[in-house]
Formats: sequence, structure tokens, C-alpha cells
Amino acid sequence: MLFTYNYIPHHIEKLQEYLDFLFFEVWCKADGDFNVDKLENHGELQQIYIDLGNLEGAWASFFNGSIETIYKEFLKLDSVYITELINNYEINNNIENLCYNKDLLPLTYDDIKENNPNLAKALKDFYSKIYGSNSPFNLEVFGFLNKVLITDYDTQFMTANNKEICPFCGINHLKGNNHSYREAYDHFIPKGTYPFNTLNFKNLTPMCNECNSTYKLTKVPIFKKNPKKIDPIKNKDNRSLAFYPYAENHPVIEFSVKINTSNILQLKTDEIELSIDSKGYEEQIESWIRVFGLDERYKALLCSPSAGKDWFNSIMDEYQNAEALSDINGAEQYYNVILKDARKNIISGQGFIKSVFLEECKSKGLFEKKYND
Ligand SMILES: [Zn+2]
Repeated sequence: MLFTYNYIPHHIEKLQEYLDFLFFEVWCKADGDFNVDKLENHGELQQIYIDLGNLEGAWASFFNGSIETIYKEFLKLDSVYITELINNYEINNNIENLCYNKDLLPLTYDDIKENNPNLAKALKDFYSKIYGSNSPFNLEVFGFLNKVLITDYDTQFMTANNKEICPFCGINHLKGNNHSYREAYDHFIPKGTYPFNTLNFKNLTPMCNECNSTYKLTKVPIFKKNPKKIDPIKNKDNRSLAFYPYAENHPVIEFSVKINTSNILQLKTDEIELSIDSKGYEEQIESWIRVFGLDERYKALLCSPSAGKDWFNSIMDEYQNAEALSDINGAEQYYNVILKDARKNIISGQGFIKSVFLEECKSKGLFEKKYND
């Protein structure tokens, strides 16, 4: 990614705390029939459970029913497997470690299904429904997930992360606090494949619609190919490092562009060689390019009449205006002004790629030609 986000602590995290409590203190310690006393070490959640019991409606019965169903499934597990699940819960929720440590393999629903199909189903039924507009957390007792909690979280998030550019592509804008709608949040480790981290906000990042819904989809950034079969050894070879979206340190990424034509106005994608590098981060760069289809998208951007072709064209079209208004003399001098601006605005205005693209045009002498005409 081009830059990372600042993580925002927020009271929305209490939902994940409820889930942590359910997992560690209720399900993993399942013993005897479930009753409301099993929640006594978490007074707030116990009260919610009681209040939901008095409510009509599918969401309320779904939440309480899921707690009970999963509890029953845990009763059937032996202590060795429960210890494994505790370890896996922690692995699936430490997104930063999953990005940095290839020895860690996150647990999937399919892994659980192999020996415990009913447990896998119960967990998937629950975790796949707790995020989004049909989540029981949208009930008032939880503080209205979508209408209030995420909206407030997003406002604070976009205040602290105010570039309003998608860090995964650098091409598209993100809706900030001047919009009445917000950008969708992507589950970096996909929620349809991996249990336990659906409401972990370190696994949730705003992302432009094109990155989220066209390119990333269910791709898993920490695997070279999405693992299909349950095969721990193969999965280990298949592991890849990835940039962690909330990393506090992020390396500088170098772009370079080579163009095999002088006819920029007719530029085609196969005439462009693009390289994206950062020494020591080769694997992270590779997974970033793969997940977000960046080779294709950056080449398309350079060929676009409203981007690359326009950047070139506007220098050729406008340098004479600039000459009339300033002491600029010729396209090449005007190019220097535009290049300086692109280098200054690496993130806004796609300067990260605009600058290297214009430099390549310059090195091919494309701005001289006009000057000498
Ligand atoms: Zn994007």
C-alpha cells in the first residue's frame, strides 16, 4: 500500500470484547447446561442477554440462540481441541502478526469442518452475520452498530486519516467527513473464510469500491494463492508477507515507468513497463500488486485520456499559456514546474506515478520536440 492508516481506539471495540468474553469465558469453559449464570462474570453482557430474551424479533433470538447453540457444540469438544482453538482465536485476531510472520496459519471454517462440521456451521452462522446491516448488533441494546457506532467510528477515523485517498491503490478518492455516506470497510482477512475476527477493527479498513469490490474480493493478502484445500504443508509454502494496514512504520515505495513508444497520445498498456519496488519488502509489494491488480490498473491509468495522456497533453497544450503569464520558456521548463508539483503531491493527484511517467516522457525527449518546433 502507498501509506498506512492510523488505528483509532473507539468504544465500538466493546463489541469485540463481548465476543472475546463469549469465546474464552463461556464457550471454552462450557460445562453442564447453558444458563444465564454462565454470563455472570460480565454483568453488562448478562443484562443484554436477559433484555434480548424479553424482546420479540429475529435479531434478539438469533444472538441469544447462537450463544446457546455454540455452547452446546463446545460441550462436545475435548480439552486438547479447545486449547488449539484458543491458540487459533489469538492467531486469527492478531492481524499484524499474520502479515509479518509466515509461520502463522489462520484457522478457516473448512479446517473446523473437517472434524466438527456442526461447530463450523454454528460458528459461521454466527460470525458471518454479526457485521453489516443484518447484524444483531444493530439493536439498541448494543448501541446501534451501523446507524450510530460505525458512523461515529468512521467520523473519528476520517478525522485522523484525512487524506481521502484510498491507500491500497492511490487512484480513487475515499469519502471523508464532508460526505453523508461512508466508504465500505473491507475485512482484510476475509470474514467468509476465517472465524473470530469479523468485528476486530484491526481487520477492518475503509477501501475504495474498486479495490474492495472489483479486485480484492475474497483474496487473502497473506497467501500467494487463496488456499482451497486443507493442506497445512502446502498452505505454509503458499504463505506470503503482506503490508499491515495499521503498521506504524511503512517503507518508501519506488515507482518506475518505461515507455516503448514516443506516441503518448496513442499509448497502449503493452507499451508500458512498470516496476514497483521497496528494498527488503519485495514479498509485501508482490502481494499488494496481486491482491489489488495494480499492474493492470496503473497501466490503464497511464493510458487514460483523463490521467496519463492528459498529464502529457496538458504540458504540450498549456506551456504557451504559461509562457505568456510567467517567465517560463518552452515545454521543457513548463514540464519542470508540473514535475515539481507532482513530486510534492505524491498522494493527492496521483503524483507517485504521474512524476515518474512525466520523467520518462522527458527522458525520451518528448517535451524538447515541441520546444524546437
Ligand atoms: Zn483503492
